[in-house]
Amino acid sequence: MIIYKTILTIIIMDISIMPDTYQPSIDGNGNYIDKIPIIDSKGILCSCASRKDKIYNSVNKFSQHIKCKKHKEWLDALNKNKANHYIELEKCKEIVKSQQQILTQYEIKMQQKDLTIQYLTNQLTKHEKNNIIDTDVDLLDLNSILD
Ligand SMILES: [Zn+2]
Repeated sequence: MIIYKTILTIIIMDISIMPDTYQPSIDGNGNYIDKIPIIDSKGILCSCASRKDKIYNSVNKFSQHIKCKKHKEWLDALNKNKANHYIELEKCKEIVKSQQQILTQYEIKMQQKDLTIQYLTNQLTKHEKNNIIDTDVDLLDLNSILD
């Protein structure tokens, strides 16, 4: 359980230091439009093909970026394909649902393993205490007692 919590903490820490990914706004007609977001110290990534791994760490730099041809083409492509986004959203919802089911199954397995570890630890502790008290017991004698 402790290892599970540690891994979860590491994942959460990694997410908290990762830059946000830029999401365009939507105007009154349902079209994607550029709107400069608030950019904090983590910076921001843009999903357009021009420089996918580039982190923009200031409003000025990001303002310059959204003026480039590749970014404008990306925004145009988003608007042309927006009808497909609903279908993609539905697919993503299905994936999330199945991932949640898998996580729940893993959680149940983890709890079962945790209980098994607790049980075995208790058994081991009892066994060690018995060995300390009765050190003269031979394992061969134990077999005869158990029979
Ligand atoms: Zn871009």
